[in-house]
Amino acid sequence: MKDFKAKIEEQKRKFDRALARVKDKKSLELVRNLYLSRKRGHLRLLFDELKNLKPEEKPEAGQIINRLKSYIQEKLESRKREFAVPERALREFDLTLPGRKEYLGSPHPIVLFQQEIENIFISMGYFIEDGPEIETDYYNFEALNFPPYHPARDDWDTLYITDDLLLRTHTSPVQIRAMEKQKPPIRIIIPGKVYRRESPDPTHLPMFYQVEGLAVDEDITFAHLKGTLEHFLKTLFYEKIKIRFRPSFFPFTEPSAEVDIECTVCEGKNEECRVCRGSGWIEILGAGMVDPQVLKNVNIDPEKYSGFAFGLGIDRTAMFAYQIPDMRFFYENDLRFIRQFTLK
Ligand SMILES: [Zn+2]
Repeated sequence: MKDFKAKIEEQKRKFDRALARVKDKKSLELVRNLYLSRKRGHLRLLFDELKNLKPEEKPEAGQIINRLKSYIQEKLESRKREFAVPERALREFDLTLPGRKEYLGSPHPIVLFQQEIENIFISMGYFIEDGPEIETDYYNFEALNFPPYHPARDDWDTLYITDDLLLRTHTSPVQIRAMEKQKPPIRIIIPGKVYRRESPDPTHLPMFYQVEGLAVDEDITFAHLKGTLEHFLKTLFYEKIKIRFRPSFFPFTEPSAEVDIECTVCEGKNEECRVCRGSGWIEILGAGMVDPQVLKNVNIDPEKYSGFAFGLGIDRTAMFAYQIPDMRFFYENDLRFIRQFTLK
């Protein structure tokens, strides 16, 4: 019996040492098996030894083993609880991991950029107008001074639904519709989808977004046009951006100009720049004074009123503003690209 008690004490010390070396759940499980396994655990073996004791010694010896068993179970259990907390913390609250942010979605980058443009003009007192994407030949061309067979129509070729119905090539028809509805003073911008007969390439798409503007009032001059566009471009890009006006031709404005900004990619310093092709300038807007004939077409007296109009491609301008080399990226629906643009 004395030997048996010593053996129990010895097992207890061994267990304590083994438990002290436990570092994780896995080694804890090994110690548990070593002592409590039903088939070959140390306690099983101790119980087996009971049969070698004298009958009167058995009850006390049985109690001693049971006490050791409870001791071991308790220790293992409390150790297990210790491990449970930090491991869970590691898995769920590792502060060194980047946060997992839910992506809630956002308007498309072109829509966001359109809103930026709209906000600048709204702050100058403009209203936003909207109109149909399927237009008649009259509103898309004739009212804007493109008679049938006019050669300028070639530059605005589009998709025809019938001889008279077509997908609008610019948002200019909405200018006509607005001038028919209201009399000067008129200050509107017209953002929207337009269509052209184009093969997609890095700078051309058969469908794109445009925003046009129109101001008609007494004594509107080219100086107003210039001041408005300069303020717009400086706000949209940056204050010190270089801007130039070049004479141009549009059937619906006279005189007409094209507006360039300095190349936002190379600032004119790279002769091999792919964006400006080394010229240092990018064409960004078409503009001009509304042709008196266009005013006559909508019964506004050109002797009393004058106006200016302008238009720019939203996709194309966004491309320069964000320095994106290919306009098609906007329509490929690659979320890695799209998700870079979110509401400010
Ligand atoms: Zn450049």
